[in-house]
Amino acid sequence: MNYCTTYLVTGGAGFIGSHLVDGLLAAGRRVVVLDNLSTGRTENLAAAMEHGGFRFVRGSVLDAALVDTLTQECDAVVHLAAAVGVKLIIEQTLTSFVTNIRGTETVIDAAHRHGCGVLVASTSEVYGKNSHGALDEMADRILGSPSVARWSYSTAKAVDEVLANLYHRERGLKTTIVRFFNVVGPRQSPAYGMVIPRFAHQAVAGDPLTVHGTGQQRRCFLHVADAVAALLLLLDNSAADGETFNIGGEEEITVLELAERLIAQAGSASVVRQLSYGEAYGPGFEDMERRLPDTTKLRELTGWRPRHSMVEVMAAAIAEAREQQDSSEPGDAPGVPGRRSSAPPSAPVAEGGR
Ligand code: NAD
Repeated sequence: MNYCTTYLVTGGAGFIGSHLVDGLLAAGRRVVVLDNLSTGRTENLAAAMEHGGFRFVRGSVLDAALVDTLTQECDAVVHLAAAVGVKLIIEQTLTSFVTNIRGTETVIDAAHRHGCGVLVASTSEVYGKNSHGALDEMADRILGSPSVARWSYSTAKAVDEVLANLYHRERGLKTTIVRFFNVVGPRQSPAYGMVIPRFAHQAVAGDPLTVHGTGQQRRCFLHVADAVAALLLLLDNSAADGETFNIGGEEEITVLELAERLIAQAGSASVVRQLSYGEAYGPGFEDMERRLPDTTKLRELTGWRPRHSMVEVMAAAIAEAREQQDSSEPGDAPGVPGRRSSAPPSAPVAEGGR
């Protein structure tokens, strides 16, 4: 896209969205957020709320009339609203699937009607079980059966990508697709299957860190500040139109090693407890051995590189877990004051295969 002045950020009260909103406002842009607060929180937008160039609208991307009105006021859309997290997808599969497909179609269609460019958030989950080293954007998708709930998220996001690509090719809409690989950092909830915040809360509370499967699954984590830097570079680059980019970290780590390093870095007395996937999710759960991004395409176009190390990523998670533990009221979900108390972080959730 070319330089735009007013952005509609769907899902802007969420983890990545709220950091992007702060980044856009700091860069002098105006921002409207549309979020139904299903997993997002207005607290994430505390700084933005003080800004004259910001407006928050509570509502759903499934509300076509509302999306149409808001899109009309903007010249670009960043579509981040989605049902996210392995645990949420498994527990609310149908609602999540509908949100992730119909919501995206609604947003893309409105963007097209009003001549707005649109950046669509996709995921490394689209690669499914492909564990063949560093995955570039053209790598194959290897999925399990459609009857395995986990793959519905991957499928929905792949449909979103197809829609964005077809609107670009056949209707000339400016679209950019980004595939995030395990973005982590402040404001990320531990409640829906995100491994680092969950481990950090468990370590700070002195609870066992629950590692699923063998713990030998390898992942890369990216600090949210690095993800936002990539988004800001892509949003201003017209060469990104019609293209798809991986956004992810470079340092590979096994989930078991992650648990051990987090315990050490937090100075915690916690132990590691291994759970089979069956114990964590019931029978039939599938996960991938390795999830490593090839980010050459993004680097070559924009010069982007991640700036934050794993030590910094873990330090941020530990600091936030401590802060939340200190401010917890009796009766709150452990370590998660005032939010998502239906899903305590010590519940057996997956290590976020995303
Ligand atoms: P998040 O849950 O914090 O953010 C999603 C936001 O969307 C929330 O604020 C939620 O309230 C909102 N939302 C959900 N349904 C909505 C609806 N119907 N209408 C309006 N708002 C709605 O998650 P996140 O990690 O910030 O994810 C942002 C985007 O990035 C998502 O599209 C997700 O699929 C994608 N992604 C994230 C990661 C990651 O590592 N965090 C990895 C891959 C992809």
